[in-house]
Amino acid sequence: MYISCAPRIHALICTQVPQWLSMAAQAMQAKYTNDRFEITRKVTASTAGDWWIKCLDCPGKLYTPGPGETLSNYGIHLRNRQHRQRVNERVNGHSVA
Ligand SMILES: [Zn+2]
Repeated sequence: MYISCAPRIHALICTQVPQWLSMAAQAMQAKYTNDRFEITRKVTASTAGDWWIKCLDCPGKLYTPGPGETLSNYGIHLRNRQHRQRVNERVNGHSVA
């Protein structure tokens, strides 16, 4: 699991991942050990920025955390057949112990 932020965002903002989000992401990573995702933050001119979960196996896919203080939205994606296929292809491409 990686915590990152898009370019152009001030480093101070990037480090302020809410504890619940950090913990939910760690729990998710523990459950789906082969899956890779990033917590990222999108800042616009008018808001401080919303948190997003970026699936590293599915380029261009961004998911909002939730509902509530969970990552259930992204959890649904992790069970998606296309996503699992991408993960399996990546895992099988390497020699995993
Ligand atoms: Zn995915």
